[in-house]
Amino acid sequence: MALTDKFGRQITDLRVSVTDRCNFRCVYCRSANPETHMPAKDLLEWEEYERLVRLLVGLGIRKVRVTGGEPMVRPGLEGFIAHLKALGVQDLSMTTNGYLLASRCNDLAAAGMNRINISLDSLNRERFERITRTKTFDQVIAGIDAAQASNLRPVKVNAVLVRGINDDEVEAFAEFTRSRDLIMRFIEFMPLDADRAWTREMVVTGAEVHKRISDRWPLVPVVHERSETARRYRFAEGRGEIGLISSVSQPFCGQCSRLRLTADGKLRTCLFSKEDHDLRSLLRGGATDREICDEILAIVAQKEKGHRINEPGFLPPSRTMVFIGG
Ligand code: SAM
Repeated sequence: MALTDKFGRQITDLRVSVTDRCNFRCVYCRSANPETHMPAKDLLEWEEYERLVRLLVGLGIRKVRVTGGEPMVRPGLEGFIAHLKALGVQDLSMTTNGYLLASRCNDLAAAGMNRINISLDSLNRERFERITRTKTFDQVIAGIDAAQASNLRPVKVNAVLVRGINDDEVEAFAEFTRSRDLIMRFIEFMPLDADRAWTREMVVTGAEVHKRISDRWPLVPVVHERSETARRYRFAEGRGEIGLISSVSQPFCGQCSRLRLTADGKLRTCLFSKEDHDLRSLLRGGATDREICDEILAIVAQKEKGHRINEPGFLPPSRTMVFIGG
């Protein structure tokens, strides 16, 4: 069975948000003001996620990325990963801030996780603390070290660049990549921040990052999968790889193969969807597998052609990144 939308895009990737809670308060994502979390009863139980993933795998999902909020703050994550693996998910990964990773990455790999993405927005401790509003720099670096020493492959490090905040670190990140033989991905800042501070001027484009790095270290394109979000490059000399995720300046919606499941059981067909689709009430209302699959097929058929960030009158979605699952 193949999940295909009305534009002929095959849907093979699922991002699963397992919590809306996070132990960081990154300035480009969450507000400094207290935010309310969804009550625990609104969050899907692990068994509910597993049922949905089983159905989605039956419909053609091959890759699952676990995210949040911060996925590592939800107890029971390793057991969930093992269940997903047993359901036949071919490519199982997670996006994490890395804070709780060092002591758990071997267990995650043993449970069946294939690879991992760790967020790191500054190599400067004080700045890292200002961005994340935490004092966790050493633990995150230890998380990256432990991931690199584990069976998780590849280890990717993600930085969201924001003009005036960390855009002067592009070259330092490239050096970090080269010295550690990492895959470093630069993500354009998207209008999904809780403070609604995003402006186009704050976006550091992939083209700028490419120019600045290749001026110092010539880059060679790496062939990538059509639906991959990043344009990938290796260094002509030396180790490491960079990926440019240019969601704002060069949207890749035409090749999008993704669905997102929020922690409260809503299916989203785009990060920027205006509406999401409630699967939790089906799960809890006694729907059969067949009824849930029919609903998923109907939702996917309506997947939007693309986000509209670059169109006049664009309005960001009401849910911000931490509530959608990045
Ligand atoms: N807590 C995990 C983490 O820190 O990676 C996973 C969830 S986080 C929402 C997932 C990714 O979204 C992170 O790489 C984060 O940097 C990114 N992100 C959050 N807000 C963003 C924004 N406004 N624009 C671009 N990326 C954003």
